[in-house]
Amino acid sequence: MLNLAIIGGGPAGLAAGLYATRGGLKDVVLFELGMPGGQITGSSEIENYPGVATIMDGLSFMQPWLEQCFRFGLKQESKKVVKVVKNKDQSFSIFTDSGDEFKAKAIILATGSEPRKAGFKGENEFFGKGVSTCATCDGFFYKNKEVAVLGGGDTALEEAIYLTNIVSKVYLIHRREGFRAAPITVEKAKKNPKIEFVLNAVVDEVYGDKSGVTGVRVKFNDGKTKELKVPGIFTFVGLNVRNSIIKNDDKFICNTNETGQVEVDLKMQTSIKGLFAAGDIRQDAPKQVVSAAGDGAVAALSAMSYIENLH
Ligand code: FAD
Ligand code: NAP
Repeated sequence: MLNLAIIGGGPAGLAAGLYATRGGLKDVVLFELGMPGGQITGSSEIENYPGVATIMDGLSFMQPWLEQCFRFGLKQESKKVVKVVKNKDQSFSIFTDSGDEFKAKAIILATGSEPRKAGFKGENEFFGKGVSTCATCDGFFYKNKEVAVLGGGDTALEEAIYLTNIVSKVYLIHRREGFRAAPITVEKAKKNPKIEFVLNAVVDEVYGDKSGVTGVRVKFNDGKTKELKVPGIFTFVGLNVRNSIIKNDDKFICNTNETGQVEVDLKMQTSIKGLFAAGDIRQDAPKQVVSAAGDGAVAALSAMSYIENLH
């Protein structure tokens, strides 16, 4: 039986792994379906992590986290967890997509969140063929071309600014005049001569041919439409929490709020004893690397205390 299973290897899961193993806990396993690092590895730059004054891309930023936490004995299972169940003997069972079952005394759920779909016509059809949710991954395909970016949050504006280093022009499509993004980022985007704002508008349709996207039709709030002849559109319209593994027969095994975020107390304890949640998955998460890491540390300390008091 494992002492602790950490599910998800983003900033929350890695920080939890570091605190648990460095704190002396044995048999701690991190389950991660891909490369550890989390969503920030898809970011073009991070400049708001305290103590790290150098601006760097998300992948480089997370590299030392991996080295540091595996140094203290954290083990990794490169597997996707599909279900978590609490057993009658108080232990948990963790089921993976390769059919394995692992047992653990406690679990830290750190599965984070993933890009939300915007819901326009052509979004699924052209996903990966001109519709993208990752500027660092796909921006280079549009070198010296015009692209569209959809959204008015931090991600949309930051990634639009990043894209201007590669592309000739960015149409920033947003459904209203005001922005959710930080004012400093909005100012930076407004000053950028390569960004043209297309406001009070949504994407009506993305269309194309066998080669991929050839254009985007935007629809303004007054009903008028406009064609943007671009080969690519990046959509950044928010995030959905990844909570499917705590669903059993369509019901969550612990309390969640109306958007499916996991309810926790100040110790990151969920409504199920021994099940902790940290990072973007939890209610009221500020969705920042620094807070995810803080949550992970808190959850690890709480899990250790829980395990110590089990009899
Ligand atoms: P995530 O980073 O989402 O990590 C979750 C991990 O769990 C992933 O690695 C995933 O593969 C894994 N996982 C999920 N489900 C399973 C499963 N079933 N089995 C196994 N593994 C699973 N924050 C900042 O502070 N500053 C920034 O500048 C900043 N820029 C950003 C730019 C972009 C483009 C994006 C998308 C986000 C940005 N953020 C930024 C937000 C920040 O990245 C997140 O708040 C943070 O990564 C959340 O960490 P997390 O560990 O909770 O979850
Ligand atoms: P977000 O803050 O939720 O913003 C999503 C944006 O998309 C909003 O402007 C929203 O419009 C728009 N939108 C939503 N659905 C839409 C649809 N169907 N069609 C068109 N537009 C739609 O998401 P995010 O920018 O991905 O950020 C997520 C979290 O990560 C935030 O908490 C953010 O602060 C954080 N983050 C932080 C940093 C940083 O610290 N530097 C960087 C990136 C992300 P409305 O505004 O009208 O609702």
